[in-house]
Amino acid sequence: MDAAIPGASTPRSHSLSVPDATSASLPLAARCSAPIRLAGERLTVDRKTGEIVERFASADTPDGVVLVACGNRRSSRCPSCSTTYRRDAYALVRAGLAGDEVRGLSTKLADHPRVFATLTAQSFGAVHRRVVRGASTLPCRTRTTEATCAHGRPASCRIRHGQDEPALGQPLCPDCYDYAGAVLWNAHAGALWRRTTIAMTRLLAARAGVPRSEIGERVRLSFVKVAEFQTRGLVHLHVILRLDGPDPKLTAPPTWATPDLLAEIVAASAAQTSLRTSRPDGTPFLVRWGVQLDIRPIGAGAEGEGTDVRVAGYLAKYATKAAENAGGADRRLRSAYEIGRLAVTDHARAMMATCWALGGDPRYEHLRLRAWAHMLGFRGHFLTKARRYSVTFGALRTSRVRFRMKLAFIARALAGETVFDPDSTLVIGRFAFAGVGIGFASQIAAAGPPGGLAP
Ligand SMILES: [Zn+2]
Ligand SMILES: [Zn+2]
Ligand SMILES: [Zn+2]
Repeated sequence: MDAAIPGASTPRSHSLSVPDATSASLPLAARCSAPIRLAGERLTVDRKTGEIVERFASADTPDGVVLVACGNRRSSRCPSCSTTYRRDAYALVRAGLAGDEVRGLSTKLADHPRVFATLTAQSFGAVHRRVVRGASTLPCRTRTTEATCAHGRPASCRIRHGQDEPALGQPLCPDCYDYAGAVLWNAHAGALWRRTTIAMTRLLAARAGVPRSEIGERVRLSFVKVAEFQTRGLVHLHVILRLDGPDPKLTAPPTWATPDLLAEIVAASAAQTSLRTSRPDGTPFLVRWGVQLDIRPIGAGAEGEGTDVRVAGYLAKYATKAAENAGGADRRLRSAYEIGRLAVTDHARAMMATCWALGGDPRYEHLRLRAWAHMLGFRGHFLTKARRYSVTFGALRTSRVRFRMKLAFIARALAGETVFDPDSTLVIGRFAFAGVGIGFASQIAAAGPPGGLAP
């Protein structure tokens, strides 16, 4: 969560109009659709004497609370926080590709071998799709020997589907579609990825001719990955992978570790990795990647396809697109009854209903399918990264808060108010949760200059 600014709630420059929630000059909490309300106090203490030089209490503000931005990544829930998240995601991804000297990442990272890979889900039945070859759109599905399926529905579709047609991603026959398989796949996507990274390290070690336990002394693999929902309701993963030298300063890897080698290792690992689980009827189910695998090198700079600027922008965009793009819901479901009432496609409803049904089976308890039914079974994070890949979201948030505090400090000094040198004073805050949402008084007061930092 981004810290809101308690002092901002002090009515200083009253304006009688409610501030425009999209204005970039406002504190994040004032732009947030569902800010968290905190009640408490903040003391500024002289480091030397221990004297309290300033006391701020939320009780003295018009609403009696201070606001903290909700930090929700979904634009359907909070457009402002979603934009902040997307910017941070971009900065984080780009820093791992081009370096970020302000935050201690060398620009020499741009010379390291790196590839951009897209790993897809296996197929669970024929769905309507848009097939484009060159400038022409081809019929959806033609190559089939059967005219109809066992349920009497057409097994082919000659329609040349347009870009945003609602039929896209929907099964040709919902009764033939393997919903249990699809939901179990989403639920295991994270575990399948982890297993794939282990295979990558093993293959790297084999190339280096050392045991797996020693590969970290030669070369290290790091990544950032973003999960994107396809229209068929299955996630696929967009991943940036990078090879570095062994030391923590992220020096270049040995010369034998080339982009081609990295691409080869990613492809081989994806092809050979699988995970064994079982279907509701007890038969074995092998979770594996789909046959579509796209791996391309990443170039430096801003021009053209496949450059670090493009790839970082692409990942940041997908990091904020949530399950609602696949027809899922943007919040947790409380009952099976609710699934029937959601304004979603029949396909998404069937995925959610399958999550709910399998979620009641003790064998799938660990997958928490009911808690993640709104995400069609996928319970991973949308953006995850190896620790070494880049800066963290936390570091980006901290520097944003510091920057805003500095601005606030200058604004208060310019307004002739007493300001306290952060080197000689200490700020102690104690705040407790007091609800969600913004009060009218806060909406007006939030337009005032910011004055401090919430805990
Ligand atoms: Zn928000
Ligand atoms: Zn079709
Ligand atoms: Zn059928």
